[in-house]
Amino acid sequence: MRLDKFLSHAGFGSRKEVAKLIKEKRVAVDEKIVKNRNLKLQDKNTVKVDGDVVILEEWIYFLLNKPKGVISSTEEGPTKTVIDLIDHPQSDELFPVGRLDKDTTGFLILTNDGKLSYQLLNPKKEIFKTYKATLEKPVSDRDIERLETGIPLKDFTTKPAKAEKKSDRVVHLSISEGKFHQVKRMFRYLDNEVVELERISFGGMELDDLLKRGEYRRVTEDELKFLK
Ligand code: URA
Repeated sequence: MRLDKFLSHAGFGSRKEVAKLIKEKRVAVDEKIVKNRNLKLQDKNTVKVDGDVVILEEWIYFLLNKPKGVISSTEEGPTKTVIDLIDHPQSDELFPVGRLDKDTTGFLILTNDGKLSYQLLNPKKEIFKTYKATLEKPVSDRDIERLETGIPLKDFTTKPAKAEKKSDRVVHLSISEGKFHQVKRMFRYLDNEVVELERISFGGMELDDLLKRGEYRRVTEDELKFLK
């Protein structure tokens, strides 16, 4: 990786700001002050800024409790994205594993690990995600049965799901697919409307109760084992 790109990824600002640092003779590679911002770095090189070693993280995994009103996208635009919530020098490398609707809250992994993301989203793996759905109208036992058997939506029939009625209007629904608006569409088929939707678990890993909406933390090594 080029030196200016490396420093920019490590949080030292834009390429222009990094060029200024280099010009001010504050950047050293293997103890030698460098002048060339295009310098190609090798893995064995040690980069220092003002005498402090700069380390780039290879793999980053955050668990976010997604709040309402932010979109699960990496594109910059008028609407705040989940990436905008992350304060990390390499946040521009991150992307969400799958998407939640703008008004859906809860479990979302943000990472720069494309391989893990691909595995978790691969429909063949049939990884279950659990949603707590709060409904407009009471849910019947027959509805629960139909959710579990499969709902014929316009473009496909949902695979068998697990549905647990928590109260008249609250269902924990676990599905292995992740089609656009799937949970909302499944309940709409049953002539009901989801008024609140929260993802509470993903592939055996649960949302952390200690995380308030909009907060995030690192995924632990043990949790990573659950996901991988
Ligand atoms: N199903 C939905 O309808 N919305 C989501 O955000 C996730 C699953």
